[in-house]
Amino acid sequence: MKDAYAACVAEDASLPPTLEGLAARVDEAEAEPRFWRRAAECREFKWQAFLTAGIRGVRRDAWLARAAAPAKHRAALAGGAWVYGEEDELRGVPESRDTYTCAVRLRFGLPIPPACAVAAEACCAHVKRSGSRCDARLDANGHHASACGAGGTTASSGP
Ligand SMILES: [Zn+2]
Repeated sequence: MKDAYAACVAEDASLPPTLEGLAARVDEAEAEPRFWRRAAECREFKWQAFLTAGIRGVRRDAWLARAAAPAKHRAALAGGAWVYGEEDELRGVPESRDTYTCAVRLRFGLPIPPACAVAAEACCAHVKRSGSRCDARLDANGHHASACGAGGTTASSGP
């Protein structure tokens, strides 16, 4: 048991080094509502959520350390940062039903064009610093539009 736990500690540095330390942490975690599930008449401790909380953070931080800026931006958008954030604009574009619908489709990996009120652009309309248009082919899932390094706001030239 101690060897198995030691292997877990080697991968997740947020774990206490001993099983006694883990037991003490369980005692502390029992006071946190996020680790409890209410089921009918009883409460159940969410062991998996408790035991994986640290490793999820370690893996997230490792990914953030090596991911390119466009990938981080796309992950933030897909994670709903613009919905849960404090700003009411997304890169200068006011939030609307259309932006919400596009974000939901982006979050679930669905094609974006069905959410568009007008025909979808075939090529990116972002304008580079040089003044020329990006003109990259747009994919239906919005990956290029979300992460295009040529410009902000929208990838469409408008209706
Ligand atoms: Zn582009």
